[in-house]
Amino acid sequence: MKVLTIIGARPQFIKAAAVSRAFRRSALFSEVIVHTGQHFDSNMSDIFFDELEIPHPDYNLGIGGGSHGQNTGRMIEAIEKVMVEERPDWILVYGDTDSTLAGAIAAVKLHIPLVHVEAGLRSFNNRMPEETNRKLTDHVSTLLLVPNVVALGNLDAEGIRGAHVMNVGDVMYDAALIFSAKAERESRVLDDLGLAPKQYILATVHRQENTDVRERLESILRAFAAACQPVVLPLHPRTRQRVAQMGLSIPGNVKVVDPVGYLDMVMLEKNASLIATDSGGVQKEAYFHQVPCITLRDETEWVELVELGWNRLASPASEGFKAVFSSIPAAGRLDAMPYGDGHAAELIAKVIAEHNR
Ligand code: UDP
Repeated sequence: MKVLTIIGARPQFIKAAAVSRAFRRSALFSEVIVHTGQHFDSNMSDIFFDELEIPHPDYNLGIGGGSHGQNTGRMIEAIEKVMVEERPDWILVYGDTDSTLAGAIAAVKLHIPLVHVEAGLRSFNNRMPEETNRKLTDHVSTLLLVPNVVALGNLDAEGIRGAHVMNVGDVMYDAALIFSAKAERESRVLDDLGLAPKQYILATVHRQENTDVRERLESILRAFAAACQPVVLPLHPRTRQRVAQMGLSIPGNVKVVDPVGYLDMVMLEKNASLIATDSGGVQKEAYFHQVPCITLRDETEWVELVELGWNRLASPASEGFKAVFSSIPAAGRLDAMPYGDGHAAELIAKVIAEHNR
């Protein structure tokens, strides 16, 4: 059976690393990988294919750098051509990016069964481009594979339920388990950056609501300046661009580095005393590596981590945000397993095979 996988952005490469590995281990599958080009810098794209042993894409569409509408439209057109040529049995999309939505629209128009991995997440904030992408994709998917019970409930509330909706666990948990030992063996990032375990705060900032609103970005930088430990900030290209455009300056206690590969990121996460992020994936990885997390947003899709005490929401627009990093929060509870058993990728392959006709 032929699966055509559409990926384009950093978190999708990490998810695909786990799932492509499961496809390669089964005689039932052949996979064609389409990279839309949404993320194109070598440290936002190529490095993941190399170190996570993802097969190099069969197609690279080179579509990135435009507005949401521009990118999505161009992707639909180009992806449709590939689908017509390849005639796959399934289209597989991940998460909530413009590449996800473009793949979904192209698939349904050609009546090709569509599987959405990481279905059912909701922030209930319609101003987020990701929220629109994930909702529309969920409503046209043939198979909806969700990472946890909260996502099942979200879909149920929208009338999406039945045998085509399944909780398979979170493939990012699989990736964390698969690549952790390799990261320990191969990454030199702590030495290279002169960092001692538990003596720094790791931060990532890339969400549009923070990067494109001057007051929020300034507020985040001010809070970093008041942090109780040095801050390490692998800087996303969009954020770097906005900081420069707005003429903001980075506080002296913040060590800015280029985006790092996944293995270095795992080591930075594991050894941080605290993670401060607006990333979806990084919030979960903080929990996988048992590091407290503060999420720089007004809401989160991963509400179970707040309930378990591993994650705290802190809006950069709120009173008192400046002091949010003045101490390291306590660890949360470990008595629940909200993201499955680390074998989501195998289960995804099994479920697709069972639904193939
Ligand atoms: N990540 C990485 N290098 C970095 C920053 C993040 O490898 O410099 C990884 C991180 O470990 C996680 C994923 O990228 O697996 C998260 O992607 P991102 O924050 O871009 O997107 P989101 O999860 O918010 O959709």
